[in-house]
Amino acid sequence: MKRALTDLAIFGGPEAFLHTLYVGRPTTGDRERFFARLEWALNNNWLTNGGPLLREFEGRIADLASVRHCVATCNATIALQLVLRASDVSGEVIMPSMTFAATAHAVSWLGLEPVFCDVDAESGLLDPEHVASLVTPRTGAIIGVHLWGRPASVEKLEKIAADNQVKLFFDAAHALGCTADGRPIGGFGNAEVFSFHATKAVTSFEGGAIVTDDGLLAERIRTMHNFGIAPDKLVSDAGTNGKMSECAAAMGLTSLDAFAETRAHNRLNHALYSEELRDVRGISVHTFDPGEQNNYQYVIISVDSAAIDIDRDQLQAILRAEKVVAQPYFSPGCHQMQPYRTEPPLRLENTEQLSHRVLALPTGPAVSSEDIRRVCDIIRLAATNGELINARWDQRTRSGS
Ligand SMILES: *Cc1c(COP(=O)(O)O)cnc(C)c1O
Repeated sequence: MKRALTDLAIFGGPEAFLHTLYVGRPTTGDRERFFARLEWALNNNWLTNGGPLLREFEGRIADLASVRHCVATCNATIALQLVLRASDVSGEVIMPSMTFAATAHAVSWLGLEPVFCDVDAESGLLDPEHVASLVTPRTGAIIGVHLWGRPASVEKLEKIAADNQVKLFFDAAHALGCTADGRPIGGFGNAEVFSFHATKAVTSFEGGAIVTDDGLLAERIRTMHNFGIAPDKLVSDAGTNGKMSECAAAMGLTSLDAFAETRAHNRLNHALYSEELRDVRGISVHTFDPGEQNNYQYVIISVDSAAIDIDRDQLQAILRAEKVVAQPYFSPGCHQMQPYRTEPPLRLENTEQLSHRVLALPTGPAVSSEDIRRVCDIIRLAATNGELINARWDQRTRSGS
């Protein structure tokens, strides 16, 4: 255990870990089962275009989300575009700035205009009052994000969308298996989108899915994601290629088989981080509503630099030197990124403050209790010695970047 500042790797001490710890190592499940599915797909000679594994995967995701329809896609970014396009959205799309860049890119790639909205200062979730104030005659849709798996204010957003007759979608990339007001995420708004990227709670290497109860919308999306080819085999829409392959579906099914275990492990990890860091001044672990289901995919801490003298970036560098790769999800907000910055700059106070404070810590089945205790020891040492760390900061011996 590290006790003195010189024990920290950034000041010349030995690294705490032999192997690097990451946020979101892939949860690939039972390898034999994956290979068996792949073998089956190869023998079946059906690699893509709505194969049996794909259909099974879509059925299981629809069940998990308690919705009638699921269209699996090559990734969530294309899925978001398909949803917007198939819903004939035009003009402006109101969305949080506090999200992954893909939410904004999906909008902007369709020639639509992202309108960035502020979030609640604590939860990081879209602020419904701010959303309502941004609605104009040009608003075509609202996209809510279930940030870190916590549900957006679904009811309030549904009311705003209905009152103004605009479409409502959710980027549910973080929220597979989570609930909002006790109802599974997936069934809110006009449609929701999941991601099965390698870093998400369930992975298909790359992949995404659109879930909805709207049968006509699902049918149009299914057509559009296969070059606009309708069930009668004629091209009826300007489509794209957004299909998920059998190989990806084989991985998706296998990862999904392991989801209950992944989630149980993540839940314990989150509880242990919370306990270990409970009494550390200036560090707070973001909590989950015990009345909701969550996947505990992200352990997010908030660093109060005024209380401990060092800021989030310094803590990230200190951890990095120990081979702990923590991620500033999401910093900066989209409105401060190069393609979306404006002059004069848009000010979103809560987003800017929160995005400077948050850090995602390593979790997932690959991260053990012992790992977590050691990570928390480092955080505790750093957080209780801020002033001394600053006095020494220029004598760093190991790069924290
Ligand atoms: C991962 C992620 C995406 C993009 O998903 P892909 O499947 O990689 O395209 C979109 N939004 C959020 C919030 C994400 O975390």
